[in-house]
Amino acid sequence: MNPFNDYIEPVFRPPSEADSLILQVTNGCSWNRCAFCEMYTAPQKRFSVKREEHVFAEIDQAADQLAGRVRRIFLADGDVMVLSTRRLLAILQHIAKRFPELNRVSSYCLPRNVANKSVDELKELRDAGLKLAYVGAESGDDALLKLIDKGETYTSSVESLNKLSTAGIKSSVMILNGLGGQHYSHQHADNSARLVNASQPDYLATLVVSFPLGEQRFRSHFPEGFQPLDQTGLFTEMERFIAQTELSNTIFRSDHASNYLVLKGVLGKNKQQMLETLRLAQSEPGKLRLREEWQRGL
Ligand code: SF4
Repeated sequence: MNPFNDYIEPVFRPPSEADSLILQVTNGCSWNRCAFCEMYTAPQKRFSVKREEHVFAEIDQAADQLAGRVRRIFLADGDVMVLSTRRLLAILQHIAKRFPELNRVSSYCLPRNVANKSVDELKELRDAGLKLAYVGAESGDDALLKLIDKGETYTSSVESLNKLSTAGIKSSVMILNGLGGQHYSHQHADNSARLVNASQPDYLATLVVSFPLGEQRFRSHFPEGFQPLDQTGLFTEMERFIAQTELSNTIFRSDHASNYLVLKGVLGKNKQQMLETLRLAQSEPGKLRLREEWQRGL
C-alpha cells in the first residue's frame, strides 16, 4: 500500500509484507557496508532519519485515506530499530492511536540494534505494537561474515535473536544461499544451521545471493577469488543446510524472487519432504517447476 508521494526510492520490503502499509521512517541503512547488498547504494539513499513531525503527518494522512483497511504496517527502510526507544515508542503509539484495528507492526532489524536495547525496552516496543523483526543474519559462519563485512557474528546474531524472543517479539531470519560460493559452501550451510538451531526463529527465509548491479564490489571482498555456485550447487547447499536444522516450529519460505525453487513449510514437520524436493531439484530438475532466469525478477 502506498498512499504517499514522497518516498525516497527505492523502497524495499520483505515478500510477506506485500499487503502492508509501508511507512518510511528512516532512509537507507546506517551500516550500509555489506558486500552483497545493493539496496541502498544510490546517492539519495544515504542514511538519514525522517523528522518526527513528518512521520506523524504521514501516519495521519494514511489513516485519513485508508481508515479500516490497514491490518499491517512495515516500518522502512533497512534499519529502523537503530532509532532510540523513545522515538520508536512515540511512532508506535501514534500508529496505534490512528490505526486501532492494526494486527502488527514490523521492520527490518540489525542484530546490533537489538544489542543496544534492553529486554525491558524491547518489551515496551512489543506492547506498543512492534510484533515482528526481520533479521538478515545472512550466514552463521564467522569467516564469511567477516569477508562480506556484515559487522555481525554468529554470537551477536544468536544473542539478539534470543533477546527478541525473550521480549516477545517474533523474528524472521534471512539466510543467503550461495553467499560464500564454492569455497565456503559447506561451512556456510553448517554454521547457518547452527545459528537457526540456537535461536529457533519464528520464520526463516532463504534468498539466493544476486547482483543486479554487477558483482565487482562483492568479488573484491574475496582475495582468493569467488567461484559462484551454479543452480545445482545452490540446491546442494540448501539440502545440507535444511538437513542439519533442528527446528521445532519455524515457518520456512524460499519465495523471494531470487530463488529458483520455491519451498514452503514448517520446520521440522515438513523437513523430509523439503529435503526430497531438494534432492529431486539436483537429480531431475525437469520434474519441478523451477523459476527461469527471467522469472526471478531481479
Ligand atoms: S545491514 Fe542489511 S540493509 Fe544494511 S547493508 Fe547490510 S544487508 Fe544491506
